[in-house]
Amino acid sequence: MAQQFEDSFQRKFYYLRLSITDVCNFRCTYCLPDGYHPEQGKKPSFLTLDEIRRVTRAFADCGTTKVRLTGGEPSLRRDFTDIIHTVASQPGIEKVATTTNGYRMAKHVHEWRDAGLTQINVSVDSLDPRQFHQITGENLFHTVMAGIDTAFDAGFAQIKVNTVLLKGMNAEQLPQFLAWIKDRPIQLRFIELMQTGEMDDLFQRCHVSGVSIRNTLMANGWLLRSKGLNDGPAQVFYHPDYLGEIGLIMPYEKGFCSTCNRLRVSARGKLHLCLFGEHGVELRDLLTHDHQREALITRIRGGLTEKSVSHDLLEGNTGMTPHLASIGG
Ligand code: SAM
Ligand code: SF4
Repeated sequence: MAQQFEDSFQRKFYYLRLSITDVCNFRCTYCLPDGYHPEQGKKPSFLTLDEIRRVTRAFADCGTTKVRLTGGEPSLRRDFTDIIHTVASQPGIEKVATTTNGYRMAKHVHEWRDAGLTQINVSVDSLDPRQFHQITGENLFHTVMAGIDTAFDAGFAQIKVNTVLLKGMNAEQLPQFLAWIKDRPIQLRFIELMQTGEMDDLFQRCHVSGVSIRNTLMANGWLLRSKGLNDGPAQVFYHPDYLGEIGLIMPYEKGFCSTCNRLRVSARGKLHLCLFGEHGVELRDLLTHDHQREALITRIRGGLTEKSVSHDLLEGNTGMTPHLASIGG
């Protein structure tokens, strides 16, 4: 194995989040409220299966063991199952995860699992079908729920559910969420709303800290679990009476970036050092041939020296990211 990817702050990178498309069929209020629109006059050109294989191989050669396929909505790619298989087949890759809106799960999750998918995060912002529709722009609550059931049938032992905390909407529904995970092996992860470049006043209206949820959990017998290598910044709580767990992702809390163990590659082949960074490092010209691998690794390593210690979200600096669908949240 080539030397492990590491930045100037001795953070080691085991985990790649690979976006495979910017396209999405949902219109989440905090992400793509007007739906996906390609850049004007441009036909989107996302990484091909061969480019995905080459970039994954380079990361795996330098110590990456986990790849998350994200987007946009990754399952909208027709070759999604082949992508899972290709990524899972690279030597050294132990875990292949995806983050999905769940739209295609009920139909395809068995084949994804057979292809090598080991972990699913599905986004569910409300357990109330009407509110789900209001937040995501799609009346598909029951389709997504059926997808979760099918994923358990397919053999996933635990499923992670992402819920973006929104004041006045789902943030008041902790009791319903807790009841839902009581007898289900679901890790429900509340994510604080993050401000992105194209967001209107939604952040001011709807951002709410996860602290009150943490306080409620701790007052009710929930315990903080110690972290594993690939856990990243989530604080995970468990309770002896619950099969499910609660995760809190609080990017506005001090020290959030200190355990950052992830790098991102966008669907157009740029390396992003942070969700909220200023620019990406172009990799695509080095993804054309297998013999470019050494040069590719050298460029990634060079880019890593630029990774800063923390994002500047608290200063209101959202970087260049217009919305998370453009970089793979
Ligand atoms: N389409 C897939 C989905 O929604 O699961 C994958 C891509 S989406 C960008 C990845 C995750 O980012 C989702 O769980 C979504 O809820 C979250 N997300 C998107 N915009 C966000 C924001 N502004 N603040 C916090 N989380 C956000
Ligand atoms: Fe699509 Fe995911 Fe963004 Fe919602 S959060 S609009 S599902 S990319």
